[in-house]
Amino acid sequence: MNENGFFGKWGGAYIPEILHETFEQLKTGYKKAKEDPSFWKEYESLMQSYSCRPTPLTYAENLTRHFGGAQIYIKREDLNHTGAHKANNVIGQGLLVRKMGKKRVIAETGAGQHGMATATMAAKFGFDCTVYMGEVDVKRQRPNVFWMEKMGAKVVPVKDGSRTLKDAINEAFRDWVTNVDTTHYVFGTACGPAPFPEMVSWFQSIIGREAKEQIERIHGKLPARVYACVGGGSNAMGIFQGFLEHEEVELVGVEAGGKGIDSGLHASRLCGHDATPGVAQGYKTMFLQDSDGQMLETHSVAAGLDYVGVSPILADLCERKRVRFAAATDQEVMEALDLTMKKEGIIPALESTHAFVQAFKEASSLPPDQAIIINQSGRGDKDIFTIAHAFNDPSWQEFIISRAREYGI
Ligand SMILES: *Cc1c(COP(=O)(O)O)cnc(C)c1O
Repeated sequence: MNENGFFGKWGGAYIPEILHETFEQLKTGYKKAKEDPSFWKEYESLMQSYSCRPTPLTYAENLTRHFGGAQIYIKREDLNHTGAHKANNVIGQGLLVRKMGKKRVIAETGAGQHGMATATMAAKFGFDCTVYMGEVDVKRQRPNVFWMEKMGAKVVPVKDGSRTLKDAINEAFRDWVTNVDTTHYVFGTACGPAPFPEMVSWFQSIIGREAKEQIERIHGKLPARVYACVGGGSNAMGIFQGFLEHEEVELVGVEAGGKGIDSGLHASRLCGHDATPGVAQGYKTMFLQDSDGQMLETHSVAAGLDYVGVSPILADLCERKRVRFAAATDQEVMEALDLTMKKEGIIPALESTHAFVQAFKEASSLPPDQAIIINQSGRGDKDIFTIAHAFNDPSWQEFIISRAREYGI
């Protein structure tokens, strides 16, 4: 990254004047934390006692046998507190906020996972917490809204635009501009204005540090390939950082192919041909937008991958060909999910399953003395409504109907 927050030609910090001082504070706080080894120690120790770190690296022996090629290992970020890698980022930012002396946090959320993680962190650190969520997502993700409110957060439904994630981000920025002195904006992924892409990636690098140490210990050498799904890009940046300097390890990012990358119903920005360079939401990256810069509607079965932008760091790594990008369709995701549950007794999140799809496509073409790692960013039991619906399970429908009857509907 250069001093203006650019990675190659991507990134930067396109922010209103009123936020300049806050960003300077944040950059200084982050820099101090990064240079102080005791900060990382405190962070690691909290992640151990609160979020089950280090998360295991599981050898998937049945899947390995099934495909008959490379040994398949799964990095288990699903075992974090709140069920996904999001905890790594929010706990890190929470420690930083405490050091900066602020008492209020705000966050945007799409599927509700980042909002849940932030509400959890705020409860633990004793911060006041407001979460912005598109009105459509509030309706779709009722269980997460319920838990956020129960943990003391205020959930604000956003009624602008398409009433989804990008509108929630805009509203959170509006709040921040009004309350700069008291409030920190806990950005949820490796996007947004600098220093967020780098700072979020730094907290998430705990995944890659552990994974590299674990695979070397278990397998005796580095893996041939590492796979991660890419929404905003934070879990991918997290695991990739453990292997970036080792050119022999191929890094593969998997985006949401939705109904197919030629269907117009997907969220593939770096793979495919629908995204173009643009500046929005405080940073420059490849956006899914029309020729007037209006953001397009995106689609994915996985709510957490359904976003118009992507990490500027990944845009740069894509351009430099250090990370290869692929897309998985909704249909492929459901098949890979089914196989993973049956073979390993593991339920990956729909987001994470995108990485499994690409790994499954490639495993058999690699020799058995090679290993590959799939980053399982989260657990799938949170997705039970979507998954049961997609599998068209009649007994589940009956269950929902009988529950509705209990409420007299
Ligand atoms: C939020 C989320 C993602 C997408 O976010 P990234 O920043 O791309 O990691 C992926 N998987 C799970 C389980 C999530 O909750």
